[in-house]
Amino acid sequence: MNLKDYIRDIPDFPKEGIIFKDITPLWKDGKAFAVSIDEIAAKYEDKQIDLVVGIEARGFIVGAPVAYKLGVGFIPVRKPGKLPYKTTSMSYSLEYGTDTIEVHEDAISPDMRILIVDDLLATGGTAAAVIKLVEKLGGVVVGMEFLVDLTFLNGRDNLKGYNVSALMEY
Ligand code: AMP
Repeated sequence: MNLKDYIRDIPDFPKEGIIFKDITPLWKDGKAFAVSIDEIAAKYEDKQIDLVVGIEARGFIVGAPVAYKLGVGFIPVRKPGKLPYKTTSMSYSLEYGTDTIEVHEDAISPDMRILIVDDLLATGGTAAAVIKLVEKLGGVVVGMEFLVDLTFLNGRDNLKGYNVSALMEY
């Protein structure tokens, strides 16, 4: 099965010049969705993962079933103001301005082995901030998994020293 058959290019979304990789056709297809989740989970079955961390919002769709498959819990990393309990946060720079992500301060205990999951690696700015957030709480980042890596944006340069992989590369 070629998962790339289920990724749709949307030119000029959300703004001119961006080719948006639309993953919804993959999620709509039960078999393709299952294959993508199974392939990610298989790589971590023997890695003693304690928790899967998913990044709002598309990272939840990938991360939650991976956690279920591995038989471990799921931690949502969210945009500011969404999580109800006490949070810890991390800001990071975007092309213009900054962005912030949050996690519950008791979500991760020191030395827990964490798998971070998101739909797509672009510049790696978001993923690098999630690594910092996990490590701030004492978690150990065992790996980072994406469905898609836009390799021409060199996101991996922001994630040097970490175990990063993606099911599809462009
Ligand atoms: P970045 O921090 O640059 O790695 O961007 C991360 C997030 O932006 C990913 O989780 C994607 O959801 C979204 N994103 C960025 N560029 C694209 C794109 N070309 N197609 C689809 N999603 C994108």
